[in-house]
Amino acid sequence: MANSWPGVIRAYENYLPFSASTEVVTLNEGNTPLIRAGRLAEAIAPGSGLRLFLKYEGLNPTGSFKDRGMTAAVTQAVRDGAHAIICASTGNTAASAAAYAARAGIRCLVLVPEGKIALGKLAACLAYGAEVIAIDGSFDDGLDMVRTIVDRDAIARHPISLVNSINPWRLQGQKTAAFEICDQLGGAAPDWHCLPVGNAGNITACWMGFREYDEHTGTGLPRLLGGQASGAAPIVQGEVVAHPETIATAIRIGNPARWREALDALDESGGIITAVDDEHILASWRMLAAKEGIFVEPASATGLAALKQQIDCGEIDPTDKTAVCVLTGHGLKDPDAAVAQAKPPRTLPATLDALERYLANT
Ligand SMILES: *Cc1c(COP(=O)(O)O)cnc(C)c1O
Repeated sequence: MANSWPGVIRAYENYLPFSASTEVVTLNEGNTPLIRAGRLAEAIAPGSGLRLFLKYEGLNPTGSFKDRGMTAAVTQAVRDGAHAIICASTGNTAASAAAYAARAGIRCLVLVPEGKIALGKLAACLAYGAEVIAIDGSFDDGLDMVRTIVDRDAIARHPISLVNSINPWRLQGQKTAAFEICDQLGGAAPDWHCLPVGNAGNITACWMGFREYDEHTGTGLPRLLGGQASGAAPIVQGEVVAHPETIATAIRIGNPARWREALDALDESGGIITAVDDEHILASWRMLAAKEGIFVEPASATGLAALKQQIDCGEIDPTDKTAVCVLTGHGLKDPDAAVAQAKPPRTLPATLDALERYLANT
């Protein structure tokens, strides 16, 4: 069959604020698999009948869910006559912005925290031809800078569009993940929707999507479970974290742009937000790869780590429940983290003898 998936804007055009005549900037993002994870369910909630699904967003065109929002943000930027887009980013927003800007033939500037961006993300930004500016500050510093600069007069005359998740079009695109999940579950929302929370754009967008879909098609609503890293958990602690630290660099954020919206979404859904330490994020990250063959970047395992934690402490009863964990980004984004966590490969002489001895002894 011909591949007819047109990208998220056209696939869900009745739910998105674009007209049929809009020139859409797309890389055919979305339509990512929802993978049943039976072995993992058995490992975290043995005998409970938990139906666990993994929404593998790492299979988007630039390797993260950010592409869903970026198709909408860049489509709108072009419609507004922008000749450039700008963002601050821990890496994935930058890579996605760079790709969609290339696709649209416009300029792309990205501010990243120096030395804190994972290798695969930096490589992609450079390959797509973005102007990468490393700042000796955090993501939050970069976001303050780009927010201010786009308001300056000089810029207003040469429109630069800000494509961080404070851009409302990003959320419009990102809400389509909720639509897909309901469609893939046969027209029903899961009981629990679990995901990592950094800037809180995704949890806000997903909740918007679930609500809209429920209104139009009666899917019901999930409860939201958000996971933050313990060293970068402002929403859990109720205060800005000045120096966020975590191996999960995609959620290394101390002052989330969508803080209030996330609290509303959690409240409305009867949800939970919790902090998980790096050790448990990595344990979940390892389980995803070793038990299900799914390689993600560390931040992406935070939803699963949060689910396991809440089951272990009795806050979530997994009995006959359906849970979806959103795996936000691909493992190849952060090869350094993967290699640092692994045992180094075995070295053998290039002889059959050596291989035979090895097999006999293991
Ligand atoms: C952006 C991102 C997140 C966090 O999403 P927010 O919308 O900032 O909460 C989590 N994981 C990955 C891989 C990301 O790229």
